Amino acid sequence: MRIDTIEIYHVAMPLIYPFRTAYGSDDCIESILVRMVSGQHYGWGETSPLRSPTYSGEWAQGVFLATRDWLAPLLVGQDVTSGEQLQKALSSIKGNHFAKGGLDLAWWDLHARLQGQPLWKLIEGRGADVEVGADFGVMESLDALLAEIAKAQEAGFKRTKLKFRPGWDLNMVAAVRERFPDMTIHVDCNSAYRLSDLPMFQELDRYHLAMIEQPLAHDDLLDHAKLQASIRTPICLDESIVSPEKAQKAIELKSCRWINIKPARVGGVTQALAIHDLCQKAGIPCWIGGMLESAVGQAFNTALATLPNVRYPSDIFPTSRFYREDLGEPAVTLSGPSKVTASRKPGIGCEPHPERLKRLAVERAVVKA
Ligand code: MG
Repeated sequence: MRIDTIEIYHVAMPLIYPFRTAYGSDDCIESILVRMVSGQHYGWGETSPLRSPTYSGEWAQGVFLATRDWLAPLLVGQDVTSGEQLQKALSSIKGNHFAKGGLDLAWWDLHARLQGQPLWKLIEGRGADVEVGADFGVMESLDALLAEIAKAQEAGFKRTKLKFRPGWDLNMVAAVRERFPDMTIHVDCNSAYRLSDLPMFQELDRYHLAMIEQPLAHDDLLDHAKLQASIRTPICLDESIVSPEKAQKAIELKSCRWINIKPARVGGVTQALAIHDLCQKAGIPCWIGGMLESAVGQAFNTALATLPNVRYPSDIFPTSRFYREDLGEPAVTLSGPSKVTASRKPGIGCEPHPERLKRLAVERAVVKA
């Protein structure tokens, strides 16, 4: 289809309480919404790199500007008939994976709407239902954490992810494992450690974690391979995998045994599908991560979580977990214990609520052919 107009919105979405991880604390999620228009039709994308360049080198304001000034101008006026063609059109711009992701996601929503198919069906997902897990940031106290995990257990969540950072590490995992001896648990280090922390990771082996997510530097593959060779617990890469090329190198180096795919982080649905297929071929299972996006971004995560090589509950959360109201409509709700169901409407089946978009937008730009 010919891309006529691209609208870009930089939004700030207040969280109910701050989300604390190894890279800091966010009380607001800053996200970039993209509306891609072709004739009478449109599609939405959302890419959420966070407010500051602490998770990756990208950040919301930077993604807004890169999209407005460099990437969107490469697409408007062009006839784009596949995700691969879209990626090729953007390939003169180095890096900027989150920024490219917003455009690629919007193209896929538009494409699926034009095909009259839900995105998950178009990408050959197994079925609309996906398994989701519970996720806990760094909390005020161990007692508070244990109480929250108990609630999630009662609600039927089948796995628990714990943010892990210096000072909230081995003692925290020991306490959780003691209280919940059989629960599926993994930790997410958000790149807070170095290879010199190997003895601590070897100690973690005794807690039978499902995996250790991104223990070392955000762009590393080699040290992760050395660490993986020295511990029993599988490593899952998140931040390090920004493209299919990086995934291929991680597989060759044996840097990990799992890959967390975030469609926005890797440059969109096109790249997420490529990584999924590479991993499937190599026998590396995947799951889908999130950046606390609105329901718009989470609708893409849900569609991708229907893929056959997604073999662990994904980070997809009901709106009420983090927000008073969702920017997107419909909001995300559980369709059963530990379960979310992808929309049966064409496309992702979700878009920003117009009044909320207006209220939460801090900047808007329009790029036309
Ligand atoms: Mg992670």
